Amino acid sequence: MTDDKEPFLQPWQFFLLGGMLAATATVIVATGQSPANIIILSLTVVSVSFVGLGAYRMLSPLVSDQPETPMTFGGRTRVALEREKALVLRSLKELEFDFAMGKIAKADFDEMSARLRARALGLMRQLDAGGGYREQIAKEVEERLTRSEGDGLSHRREPATAEAVALRTCDCGTQNDPDAKFCKNCGAKL
Ligand SMILES: [Zn+2]
Repeated sequence: MTDDKEPFLQPWQFFLLGGMLAATATVIVATGQSPANIIILSLTVVSVSFVGLGAYRMLSPLVSDQPETPMTFGGRTRVALEREKALVLRSLKELEFDFAMGKIAKADFDEMSARLRARALGLMRQLDAGGGYREQIAKEVEERLTRSEGDGLSHRREPATAEAVALRTCDCGTQNDPDAKFCKNCGAKL
């Protein structure tokens, strides 16, 4: 949610208010009915407003175009893959059930289950290989870093070599910090 265009009423407040108003209206309209009936009626109206809220929550991400959508694109791809995998596996299970019940011919079952199995395998492989863009990007970044280190062009390497030069090597062969006054191994003055 963005801070700058916060609506006057939050969606849930709107639905709750609407539900309560409708319940009140129901009570007014239903005067003359037995109290039990009125309670059941108003409860129904309130629960309908909750259903409305649920539907709003479910649909609002689809309608609103949030600015962070590109950032979560990798995550969504992975989620989509997981969802499709679950769907394919469920279809496979249903297919096997139908076959066991004798609803499908053997030839049809063989063909369809082979196709579903191949699809599920492909999805699993994609997921294992890091179907999300985030993993791919991380892999590529790491690859580039190691490559540039090999070239000797990396900026990451330079401080390390400079430090190595400035290290104070003692007569005993121990390398001490650049600002060390005494050897940390033998205690000799540097
Ligand atoms: Zn020493």
